[in-house]
Amino acid sequence: MSTDQTIPPHPEGAWPAPAAGEVWLVGAGPGDPGLLTLHALNALRGADAVVHDALVSDDILALAPPEAERISAGKRGGRPSAKQADITSTLVRLAREGRRIVRLKGGDPFIFGRGGEEAEGLQSAGVPFRIVPGITAGVAGLAFAGVPATHRDVNQALTFVTGHDQHGRAPSVDWAAIARGGQVVVIYMGMRHLEEIAAEMIAAGRKADEPVLIVREATTPRQLILETTLAAAAADAARAGIDAPAIICVGPVRRLAGEVAPGR
Ligand code: SAH
Repeated sequence: MSTDQTIPPHPEGAWPAPAAGEVWLVGAGPGDPGLLTLHALNALRGADAVVHDALVSDDILALAPPEAERISAGKRGGRPSAKQADITSTLVRLAREGRRIVRLKGGDPFIFGRGGEEAEGLQSAGVPFRIVPGITAGVAGLAFAGVPATHRDVNQALTFVTGHDQHGRAPSVDWAAIARGGQVVVIYMGMRHLEEIAAEMIAAGRKADEPVLIVREATTPRQLILETTLAAAAADAARAGIDAPAIICVGPVRRLAGEVAPGR
């Protein structure tokens, strides 16, 4: 058995930010700066180096001081991207220079974002780090489309799954098991292989006319929502010009009518 430390309260008005030589792995949320956490905002304000993913918007990067160095470590399906080992060694180098570093990742750093690998890399290099969770795109995308991710009349489980990894189709995903067991299935990075994923889910027993909701660039001014079915999803998405980044929700969810998101 092991127990862990409790967290001391934040003293009034004094929010923590990265110390010199420390890396904060921070979730930037899905896009809308209003969905940052207060810890993320304060970390950004106190940073002198921000190492960010391609998905992080300029609006959010603008919250760091103008003189802070901004380093793009973009990882985006199908495009040239920094190697994971290079990102980790950049973080280690900056920390050894005594910088105050925010490693800013889209959504939540530990949901399909390889934040776990970066944290392990920092740990084995002996670099002190902190984690700031963020709102993950799967949750925010459904909410901004007016869809409760769980609803007592609809689902008692919610599955998050990735459609591909850095090598292509996610090799270890058992789509048949997900199709059978996952009531509402939220797929990240699924656009490129949507046709095959849908076919596998139908082969495993999901109905061809099972509702599918696709939310592209959720919570940003470019947000686009498509309602379709499993059988038609890939063709409808192509017709509507919807590609990554998008989350795909498979299941008979309920969608609230009207505008549900805070305006800008
Ligand atoms: N750590 C991130 C996910 C990184 S994987 C998170 O917690 O949200 C990248 C994938 O996330 C994209 O391919 C897409 O499927 C999804 N994604 C990220 N931001 C998104 C957004 N604003 N709208 C829709 N999907 C998004």
